[in-house]
Amino acid sequence: MVGGGIGGAATALALHRAGLDAVIYERTKELREVGAGIALWANATHILKQLDLLEDAIRVGCLTTNYQFNSQLGKELVNVPVAGFELPVVGIHRAELQQLLWKNLPQEKFVLGEKFERFERNENQVRAYFASGLSVEGDALIGADGLRSRVRAELWGDRPPTYRNYKTWRGLTDYVPSKYRPGYIQEFLGRGKGFGFMMLGKEKMYWYAAATAPKAQPDLEIGRKKELEMMYQDWFSSIPELIAATNEADILTTDLYDRPPTQPWSQQNITLLGDAAHPMLPTMGQGACTALEDAYIVAKCLKEESLPTTAFQHYESLRFPRTKAIVEQSLQAGRMGELKNPLAAGLRNTFIKVMGSAISNSFKSLHAYRA
Ligand SMILES: Cc1cc2nc3c(=O)[nH]c(=O)nc-3n(C[C@H](O)[C@H](O)[C@H](O)COP(=O)(O)OP(=O)(O)OC[C@H]3O[C@@H](n4cnc5c(N)ncnc54)[C@H](O)[C@@H]3O)c2cc1C
Repeated sequence: MVGGGIGGAATALALHRAGLDAVIYERTKELREVGAGIALWANATHILKQLDLLEDAIRVGCLTTNYQFNSQLGKELVNVPVAGFELPVVGIHRAELQQLLWKNLPQEKFVLGEKFERFERNENQVRAYFASGLSVEGDALIGADGLRSRVRAELWGDRPPTYRNYKTWRGLTDYVPSKYRPGYIQEFLGRGKGFGFMMLGKEKMYWYAAATAPKAQPDLEIGRKKELEMMYQDWFSSIPELIAATNEADILTTDLYDRPPTQPWSQQNITLLGDAAHPMLPTMGQGACTALEDAYIVAKCLKEESLPTTAFQHYESLRFPRTKAIVEQSLQAGRMGELKNPLAAGLRNTFIKVMGSAISNSFKSLHAYRA
């Protein structure tokens, strides 16, 4: 396997639990996730349960009860209850999730500091070549190497992902705003920008902001924190409070990309998984959740089918329709957020309010999927 992010690590663990031998080659010298949080919806906590990690995830994370959408001034538009079902929703620090996955794998299952470059097929075997000069042979190769997957480029040509006109900022702080409703993920929608926050384990608050922006826009000279303070100064009071309480150095920025869903992912005994296969905008919070689903299903297919080629065909046929729908839904949600005209943004908020129960049902059906 190439890539030891959430998708790769979960796949290695699912394969290990299924009694199959897999080794991950990861380009970074150290295992570390970015300092940000993630919401694991019920479709993802189902996978953690299958991997026997759910109790641990709840212990280091925070149980989420409601997903609430508001106007920028804090007027509630929709409130989706997410607790009380057979599986919980958990807010967790990315590094804690990665730790949970890695600590359950034997050390020799991952090799760090190896950057994949290309592969060659020899009959039923595939040989992977790395920048260091290392080469290794196996029965199959899985590319879990993210948005700019090299395995994908080697299989299908080097087509760049599509920039979707959004820049994001993410931050973590120990400060809990006095108006924060425990257990809530709260999102606020404005004109061409939005803001959201939730609690992770250890009472850490994780917040995220998104705004329309040209590709690779550099930071302003005043710095990220000042820029955000200006962008959100007249929004719901918890928002400027959270920005003010965050250290400048702990604010991350990321440009948002996806790829239009295309098949195939697999070619004989090689396939793709997670962002390498189906990168999506984070508007539905499903990128890592669907990578966990992929991990569990590819391991199941490899266990059930003796030939990796057949297993990968089966895996792709199970995964493509679901992930295609979520990539498209995420893009649609991104477009709703792009509205800058006050009238259009006002109409959007009214639409969200009126369609409250339909929106709630569509989230429920997305999260009800059981891999
Ligand atoms: C702002 C933002 C917010 C998000 N919020 C959420 C959320 O709330 N919920 C959610 O479910 N998802 C969320 N996501 C999406 C989620 O982060 C990704 O979908 C998920 O991390 C993908 O995991 P992955 O393992 O497929 O890829 P990655 O995490 O990108 O991991 C790929 C790994 O492959 C390694 N690699 C790359 N190239 C090579 C190579 N040539 N050789 C060896 N190793 C290589 C990389 O170093 C990396 O470790 C968000 C994304 C963004 C940008």
